[in-house]
Amino acid sequence: MKTWVTNGPVADFFTVLCQTDPSKKLRGLNFFFIPKETPGISVSKPFDMLGTRTSKLSELALTNVKIPQHYRLGGEGQGLNNLLSILAEIRAMTAALAIGLQRAALADSIRYAHERVQFGRPIAKYQLIQAKIGQMATNLEASKLLTYRATNMIDNNISCLKEASIAKYFATEAACFAGDEVTRIFGAYGYSMEYSAQRYYRDNRFLLYGGGTHEILLTNIARWAGL
Ligand SMILES: Cc1cc2nc3c(=O)[nH]c(=O)nc-3n(C[C@H](O)[C@H](O)[C@H](O)COP(=O)(O)OP(=O)(O)OC[C@H]3O[C@@H](n4cnc5c(N)ncnc54)[C@H](O)[C@@H]3O)c2cc1C
Repeated sequence: MKTWVTNGPVADFFTVLCQTDPSKKLRGLNFFFIPKETPGISVSKPFDMLGTRTSKLSELALTNVKIPQHYRLGGEGQGLNNLLSILAEIRAMTAALAIGLQRAALADSIRYAHERVQFGRPIAKYQLIQAKIGQMATNLEASKLLTYRATNMIDNNISCLKEASIAKYFATEAACFAGDEVTRIFGAYGYSMEYSAQRYYRDNRFLLYGGGTHEILLTNIARWAGL
């Protein structure tokens, strides 16, 4: 059983990483192409989730599934290498999602800070609100630079698991910060389902897990830093 399969409920085929020779350990991993209609494949109903609700996820059960050898993707034993290269792309992509969330949260925060008048002034005039906007804007710029570095390396076929992991970690933490701050700037309306702020707050949680948790990422980053 594989759980948390993005697009599982709507997919026509699956790319599945399997252990084909346990004695070879990580070198015994291979990717396979498996069409949805293959006997033994079954997909659960979509999960009910906190956020990112336009993306459908499910479980995938594989029971005595048989596929032809030419459904293997890549050379034999190349699964780990392929996984690591995909992982860098997934982490850079997750960083890009985090940038989009930060950008939207920042734009809505600025607009609302100008609109909302309290104690006779738009809340944009208060320095503590300005500090939130300033921090969000700085985090956004830093996230973009880290992500552009990683994606530029991907474009040039340079391995960049470290750079992509750092970009994913930083941009996601910044998106969580932005999702928190936007709900504070909106005051009680940040708690209302009628406004956008709550969505940024809910959606940012997905970024923490997709592509690897931050506990795992930080462990790797510390090792790359020389620990
Ligand atoms: C919206 C969404 C979409 C997803 N899409 C996919 C998908 O398409 N394909 C896919 O394969 N997966 C997908 N995932 C799953 C995601 O990759 C996993 O949730 C993630 O890898 C973490 O695994 P876990 O949830 O089992 O957490 P666990 O491994 O159970 O971890 C629980 C906690 O323990 C910590 N922890 C675990 N091991 C260590 C360690 N060695 N050192 C320190 N801390 C540790 C974790 O960081 C976490 O805080 C998706 C998840 C979500 C939420």
